[in-house]
Amino acid sequence: MHINTYCRICHSQNLTKVLDLGSQPLANAFLRFNDLGASEPTYPLEMYVCVDCYLAQLIHVVDKEVLFTDYIYFSSSMPKLSDHFKKYAEDIIARFLEPNDLVVELGSNDGILLHLFKDHAFRILGVDPAKNISTFANACGIPTIADFFNESLAGYINKIAGQAKAIIGNNVVAHINDYQDLGRSIKTLLHSEGVFVFEAPYLIDMFENLTFDTIYHEHLSFLAVYPLTRLFKQFDLEIFEVQIVSAQGQSLRVFVGHTGAHPIDASVAACVDREISFGLHKLETYQNWAKKIVESKKRVVQLLRNLKAQGKRLAAYGAPAKGNTLLNYYDIGPNLLDFVLDELPSKQGLYTPGQHLLVVDHQTADKRAPDFYLLLAWNYLKVILKKEDPFVARGGAFILPTTGKIIKTP
Ligand SMILES: [Zn+2]
Repeated sequence: MHINTYCRICHSQNLTKVLDLGSQPLANAFLRFNDLGASEPTYPLEMYVCVDCYLAQLIHVVDKEVLFTDYIYFSSSMPKLSDHFKKYAEDIIARFLEPNDLVVELGSNDGILLHLFKDHAFRILGVDPAKNISTFANACGIPTIADFFNESLAGYINKIAGQAKAIIGNNVVAHINDYQDLGRSIKTLLHSEGVFVFEAPYLIDMFENLTFDTIYHEHLSFLAVYPLTRLFKQFDLEIFEVQIVSAQGQSLRVFVGHTGAHPIDASVAACVDREISFGLHKLETYQNWAKKIVESKKRVVQLLRNLKAQGKRLAAYGAPAKGNTLLNYYDIGPNLLDFVLDELPSKQGLYTPGQHLLVVDHQTADKRAPDFYLLLAWNYLKVILKKEDPFVARGGAFILPTTGKIIKTP
């Protein structure tokens, strides 16, 4: 781990701490039973804001090799993502691509998105540092380089395949520490009329929905449009369109091109205006938000204690990375919750980092019949409510973990 002493966009040293979630283990470092006795490495999980460009960021940076080379998250296994990707791909194809163009995806995972471009006979190339996942992608016919994207790799791709008409990065830009290298890499690899399009959670969503649990060590920046305009300008690139999409909460879809290559859509200025009127350019907005999170912790933990004292059985639903931020910040584990239900076989039988809750499958969870589920996978609320109709029908209820709201009916 190292500590950044300057902002990764504007190099300012005026970084102010606004939220302290304590020292936490890595959110995806699930444990086997035999490892429960060993000590777990923890790292400070603190959000800072640069008071010059207003990028919200972590300054404690865990080595990317530790985080991403053996990754547990397979995109295709997540519900609802396929439809989202299909529309996404169709939009890019219709607006920016011609036959035989090169499409490069950063953090391409198992190739779920690139498949859609391959089906339309574009040239495709994935880049993903997770060796286990890229091996799988290659075996499925998605050519994938198992490495981190950087300037030298961008030069290499350019040499072997030419410049890319589309470079795509889904939930990957927020994971990158070296934004100067990212800017140079995009400048190198992007075709003169090409588009770099990426999706990332929108900082405003974290404020509106109090989703502080999306803070974990993989997410180094919490993005908004204004700081990003500052970033790309440094490399003679510019944001020419922004869409707000609801994939997993409210996300930004940002379109970047070489300066002057595309007409600038009104959505860019509209987003920056919204951010200014929302107060993202004021430190007190962040400080007020942090206060709400502290209050929310008190309220939800008290609610769970009260229910437990009444003899209710409590468990957690979903074991996403963000769930571990929340459990560890709230400091709730086996003292209040019996287990965590998660559908992913790769997590079942393991224990959550920090709190050591056992992850079980649906059948086991049903047998243990909890009265309340703390809904850690809140981003799948609708899908889960529909699926868990029988649980609700027999009197079960869900608790939203960042607000304590109880949901009894779909
Ligand atoms: Zn800055």
